[in-house]
Formats: sequence, structure tokens, C-alpha cells
Amino acid sequence: MAFLDINDVHKSYGQAKVLNGVSVTVDKHEVVCLIGASGSGKSTLLKCVNALEPVDSGEILVDGDRVTGLGVDVNKLRRSVGMVFQSYNLFPHMSVLDNLTLAPRKVLGLKGDAAEALALEFLGKMGMAEKAQAFPDQLSGGQQQRVFVARALFHSPDILVLDEPTSGVDVRTRHEVLHLLADLHDAGMSVLLTTHDLNGLAAHLPRLICLNKEIVADGSPREVLVPEVLEKLYGAPMHVLEHGGMPIVLDHSENPMVGRFGGKAV
Ligand code: ADP
Ligand code: MG
Repeated sequence: MAFLDINDVHKSYGQAKVLNGVSVTVDKHEVVCLIGASGSGKSTLLKCVNALEPVDSGEILVDGDRVTGLGVDVNKLRRSVGMVFQSYNLFPHMSVLDNLTLAPRKVLGLKGDAAEALALEFLGKMGMAEKAQAFPDQLSGGQQQRVFVARALFHSPDILVLDEPTSGVDVRTRHEVLHLLADLHDAGMSVLLTTHDLNGLAAHLPRLICLNKEIVADGSPREVLVPEVLEKLYGAPMHVLEHGGMPIVLDHSENPMVGRFGGKAV
């Protein structure tokens, strides 16, 4: 049985339908990426997986346990699903170690020494042991993501859910996030993430699920990063080139500068 089983989920906010019969399975040790335009329901689906949003119908199972409906053990769920949010932030005036131990001390009630020992263990797992005393602005974007994941490890999750881990970051950070995902995969984690970065991130991952309120396609980058699927995803024609055996998506439609500055795209 799949570790994560999302089965025919429907979800509306008021009158607005956001998820329309979405079914997805993620196996143990699988890294799966949701792609889709802004507003296509990616973040909502992740929130339903973590029981932060209720579904209207359908069901979600994590490791055989129902996440949706009445009587869900949310605490157990939050232990098995580690969520790394888009909006996570580190306190700039506190070291990495202090950032990591704050919630475990205040919320989980761990003693300072125990929290520090665990934080150092998780930082070590993330290859960040030597950064324990660093301050957030001394870390690269990818290193900050590693701290966020280290924070999620306090709950010993079996699956990590990351919403837009590369939003607003530079090329180097994208590479770092790719390495991070590969490390998590090697460590036996299941990962479900979202991205709008098709070329920098999605094209490098093994399996992409294309969401536009419903599942449009599900497969490898070569299978799904094709014009027919992309048009259904973004509602506009898109071109795909191949470079070094990998698809590269050209997004002319959203370039607002086409036709300006003397007719040349910039
Ligand atoms: P994505 O992550 O793919 O950009 P979201 O899941 O955030 O998409 O949003 C899907 C749609 O649902 C958008 O139209 C968004 O405005 C709407 N939406 C998201 N969260 C809420 C909310 N809490 N209340 C009302 N509408 C919401
Ligand atoms: Mg989102």
C-alpha cells in the first residue's frame, strides 16, 4: 500500500472549487513534486494532507491512517507528516541552534540539553553541524532550507511535505535544494513538494504530478513537460526544447516585455 494515499479529494473555499477529484499516491522513499500555475491548488492539497484544511469529500490516508474526517488523531498525524512551509522564517537575532531548540523547549517541553542534543543530531544529518552557532543571515538559502527540515525532524516524520522550497531563491540555492531532496531520498524519507520552477527544479525530479484543480498528468519530466500537458496546466501554449536529454520549458506567454523595447523580448 502507498504510504500517502489521496483518494478523490474535493475541496472548495466558499463557492470556489479548488480541488476537483484529486487522487495521488506516494510510496515510501518516493520524491514526488506537484507542479501547476499559481492558484491551481498545490498548497491547499498539502494543507489537506497535514489536516490544516478539511476536505469536502474523498479521503487521505497516511501510512494506512485516515487523515480526513472526524476522529482523526491530529497529533499522531503531525508526527508522521513533517511540513516545511513557504512562510517559515528563522529569528535573525538567534543562532541556528537556538532557533531549532525554541519550539521543542516551549511546545514539546524538552529540557534544554535534550533539545540541543537532538538539534545537533538533526543538523548533523542535514550536513549542517558546523553551522549550529551561525546566525540565519550567514546561511545560504539552501542551508536555511536544511535548518527548516532539521526543525521538522523533531517529530520523526516518515514523509516531508515542502511547499515551494525554492520560491524566490537564486540559482545556487536551487542546486542546494536539489541536493537536499536527494539526501532526504537517500535517507529513506518520502517527500511531497510543490514548485512553480519547472526548469530549475521540477525537470530534475523523478516524478511530477500536474495539478490544475484536478490531476492533468502524472509521470517523469520527459513524459509530462510536453506542450499538450503544459497548455492544460497553464491555459496558454508553451514551447519545450531539449537540452542534454532534459526538457526545457519556454514560457513566452507570461513575458510582459515581449513586443516592448523596440519589439525585442528581454
Ligand atoms: P497554489 O499553491 O497552487 O498557488 P493555493 O492552494 O494556494 O494554490 O490556492 C488555490 C486557490 O484557493 C486560489 O484561488 C486561492 O486564492 C484560494 N485560496 C487558498 N487559500 C484560501 C483560503 N484560506 N480561503 C479562501 N481561498 C483560498
Ligand atoms: Mg502555493
